[in-house]
Amino acid sequence: MPWLYAAGDVACTLDSDAGFHLRQETWRNAENQARAVAEIIMGCTQPYRETPWMWTDQLGHAIQVTGLPEATDATVVRGDLNAANATVISLRDGCVSAGVTINQSRDRRYLEALVKSRKRIDPQQLGNTLVSLKELV
Ligand SMILES: Cc1cc2nc3c(=O)[nH]c(=O)nc-3n(C[C@H](O)[C@H](O)[C@H](O)COP(=O)(O)OP(=O)(O)OC[C@H]3O[C@@H](n4cnc5c(N)ncnc54)[C@H](O)[C@@H]3O)c2cc1C
Repeated sequence: MPWLYAAGDVACTLDSDAGFHLRQETWRNAENQARAVAEIIMGCTQPYRETPWMWTDQLGHAIQVTGLPEATDATVVRGDLNAANATVISLRDGCVSAGVTINQSRDRRYLEALVKSRKRIDPQQLGNTLVSLKELV
C-alpha cells in the first residue's frame, strides 16, 4: 500500500486513452481525483479515468474544452467562428477525441458523450448544425 497519494494540479497520471502522462489543472480533475484517491484507500481497484474538461469565460464568451484538442489529426468547425458561436471538434482516427465550445454550452454534454463513446462519426454530419450532437451520440 503506497504511503503517499497525489491528487489535483500536482498529480501527473497516465491517460490510457491518450497514451501519455498528463497533468490536468482543472477544478473537475481536482475534485474527482481526490474522490478517486479516497476510493483507492478504501480498496477500490478501478484505475482513475477522467475525460479532461474545463471552462473559462473570456471577454464575455463562455468557452468549454472537453478532451485533449492537441492529440488530434483533423478538426471540424460546427457553427460560425467569426460570430463566436461555434463548436470546434477534434477527430483522431475518425473518432471524436476533443472539442471546444464557444458560446455553445448546451453541446458540451453531448460532446463529452461522443469523446467517451469512441464511435466513428462522419465529419460532414458533425459539421452540419441541422443535425444535433445529441442525435449523433
Ligand atoms: C487564475 C486561475 C483561474 C483558473 N480558472 C479555472 C477555470 O476557469 N476552470 C477550471 O476548471 N480550472 C481553473 N483553474 C484551475 C483550478 O483552480 C485548479 O485546477 C484547482 O484549484 C486545483 O486544485 P488543487 O486542490 O489541486 O490545488 P490548489 O487549489 O492549488 O490547492 C492546493 C492547496 O495547497 C496549499 N499548499 C501549498 N503548499 C503547501 C504546503 N507546503 N503546506 C500546506 N499547504 C500547502 C495551497 O495553499 C492550496 O490551498 C484556475 C486556476 C487559476 C490560478
